[in-house]
Amino acid sequence: MTDRYAVIGNPVAHSKSPWIHGEFARATRQDIEYVRIEAPLDGFERTVEEFRRANGKGANVTLPFKEAASRYSTELSAGARLAGAVNTLAFGPSGVRGENTDGSGLLRDLAVNLGFAVRGQTVLVLGAGGAVRGIVGPLAESGAGKIVLANRTVSKAHELVQRMAFPVLEACGYEALDGRSFDLILNATSTGLHGEALVVPPSIFRKGALAYELVYGRVTAFLEMAQAHGAATADGIGMLVEQAADSFRLWRGVRPETASVIAALRKA
Ligand code: NAP
Repeated sequence: MTDRYAVIGNPVAHSKSPWIHGEFARATRQDIEYVRIEAPLDGFERTVEEFRRANGKGANVTLPFKEAASRYSTELSAGARLAGAVNTLAFGPSGVRGENTDGSGLLRDLAVNLGFAVRGQTVLVLGAGGAVRGIVGPLAESGAGKIVLANRTVSKAHELVQRMAFPVLEACGYEALDGRSFDLILNATSTGLHGEALVVPPSIFRKGALAYELVYGRVTAFLEMAQAHGAATADGIGMLVEQAADSFRLWRGVRPETASVIAALRKA
């Protein structure tokens, strides 16, 4: 019987994961099926159990269930434990392994696709939601010289910094960024998704810096501001595909080639 995989979220209709995993399966000649499943907001566990009974072997998990997926896992990778959030579940005979590939996907996009080495660099992360929980640990472990977490709700940035306890981490609000500049600026807020403005001081964009928008497929106000202040820019398509490739490798033991999938998504 064909092994089945899914992306589980709410909403999930917009997800590009079925197409991406379909391309990976074709390229690596793996016989799998990958579907979208919208779980009721109060029914994540029930939905996963049903999927496992229907020959589900693994699942990607997206908003708003990444924390529920962490609780559902019987075994967590170190990264998923640190993040308190899981985006990849693998179902095995002995239980459920939870992983978080958001951070590894971002790091690979930066290093391999964009040629940006994080080691020793000053990094500003805007936001303190689920995505940030997944990316801060890998950024710190890659040797970033300084990582500043800035969030609209400042207390959330402070809580995260306290919980993660990397010496290079610092938390603040957006006003405290005035006059400071960074080598890498990551927009991990959802402002780009909703066409909202992000009120940050333009000083954050050092000339020659890389400004990275996690939202993909659109020119956001953040990207326009970064370009106007001399920063190079990138959106989150590379991260999306690389985190998917890491999930695929965990499930199937083979890491697919990603460049052609990223190029095809950009074209679309
Ligand atoms: P989330 O948990 O809902 O967090 C949203 C964040 O955005 C919070 O820090 C929130 O600040 C901030 N925010 C929302 N509206 C704002 C505004 N008007 N001004 C300033 N800050 C605002 O979302 P998430 O899961 O972290 O995801 C964040 C974004 O990353 C999403 O757009 C998602 O699509 C994208 N993402 C992309 C990838 C990829 O592979 N490319 C992977 C994961 C996520 P408060 O705490 O103050 O509310």
